[in-house]
Amino acid sequence: MDFTLPVYIETLRLKTRDFVDQYIIPLESDILSYDKHENIKEDLLNQIRLDVKAAGLWSPQMPTSRSGLGLGPIGMSVLYEEMNRSIFGPVCFNCAAPDDGNMYILNKIGTEEQKVKWLDPIINGDVRSSLAMTEPAPGGGSDPSMIKTEAVYSNGKWIINGLKWYITGAAVASHFILLAKTKDGLTAFLYHKDQPGWNIKRRIPIMGPEEHGGHCEIEYNGLVIPDENRLGEVGKGLKIVQIRLGLARLTHCMRWIGLSKRCLEIALDYVSTREGFGIKLSDRESVQIKLGKSAMDIDISRLLVMRAAWKIEHGSKSRQDVSMAKIYVADTLNNVSDTAIQLNGAKGYSKDIILEWIYRYARQAKLVDGASEVHQMIINRFFNNYKTDFWHWGIGHDI
Ligand SMILES: Cc1cc2nc3c(=O)[nH]c(=O)nc-3n(C[C@H](O)[C@H](O)[C@H](O)COP(=O)(O)OP(=O)(O)OC[C@H]3O[C@@H](n4cnc5c(N)ncnc54)[C@H](O)[C@@H]3O)c2cc1C
Repeated sequence: MDFTLPVYIETLRLKTRDFVDQYIIPLESDILSYDKHENIKEDLLNQIRLDVKAAGLWSPQMPTSRSGLGLGPIGMSVLYEEMNRSIFGPVCFNCAAPDDGNMYILNKIGTEEQKVKWLDPIINGDVRSSLAMTEPAPGGGSDPSMIKTEAVYSNGKWIINGLKWYITGAAVASHFILLAKTKDGLTAFLYHKDQPGWNIKRRIPIMGPEEHGGHCEIEYNGLVIPDENRLGEVGKGLKIVQIRLGLARLTHCMRWIGLSKRCLEIALDYVSTREGFGIKLSDRESVQIKLGKSAMDIDISRLLVMRAAWKIEHGSKSRQDVSMAKIYVADTLNNVSDTAIQLNGAKGYSKDIILEWIYRYARQAKLVDGASEVHQMIINRFFNNYKTDFWHWGIGHDI
């Protein structure tokens, strides 16, 4: 087993870290950097995105033939962790959800014509995108087979009617991937924001800071989608979103590790200088135990993510590994941000530093892309199938 990184990935990691430290983290402490939904302002984002492009760090997860850096899941794990040491990081590099997962699936299963039309503008940063899947009860949520939004075929076109909600980025997205029920199961479609027959009912207020374009409730009233904008085969929509969500869940974990690391860095800075009852906080064993536990949880998170990334890069779906990482890293982010606030005292609870931003953001990690309980159900399914062989090492590349 080899736990080392190829030199070119380490070089990119250091470049990414320097860029984040030098150009992105300083923006966090300026109130003028934020839009009214607590994310980086669009004009500032556009400027930083140009700088990222000039630094040669843009869209690292996309193939070199489509102007990315050609990194697979292993390289992505390394870079995304560095990017999200800043709350603004991933979107500056074009590595934020949902564009990240949408680019992945379009690149994986789109036809070349579809890639040119729907994927390349996202890669270039010219447009943003959304994935519209979840519905209010009694529609599809944790169980996508309950999806009620319907696509009916007629004369080379699909007519869409239904309701979706919590669709991240919808208020600024131009390209949408939509999952709807067809005669033969679920099917994925592509549509452009300027097509008639759909509208945003509302931007749902949430407890945490928002991604650009918010989390929207969307109504479809006769949206017409030509068959050429169907993504993948009819009835294979569930498989397609499972492919998308497999890596997308893991990229969430990669980013959340970066946020967790940043929380601990901030906590360490404070306890290293703050004194009370005659000694520094960092000299107290109870504080050391908290920091040590958090550091260990972050490293366990990294191991889980890298194992899943390695397996995916070597051709496995790695579903149980992704589920394990998703549960563990979500918990780690919640616990570490809480610990960091505690160790910073009142300052941790203030808006003078970013811990409270991360703490509010962190709660969604246990819900998005599958609630933790659903991932526990998946792990259990594998355990039931494989029994004691659930815990095995691959031999060579036989995973
Ligand atoms: C910030 C945010 C962004 C999102 N972005 C998007 C997006 O861009 N596109 C999109 O399509 N969706 C998006 N979602 C929706 C998200 O994927 C769903 O919320 C999630 O899949 C759960 O579905 P649900 O909310 O309908 O919960 P439900 O299915 O109603 O489940 C409710 C709760 O029941 C429990 N539960 C469910 N199933 C099981 C089970 N099998 N065993 C035990 N307990 C269970 C869990 O505790 C779960 O949280 C987003 C959600 C949030 C919060």
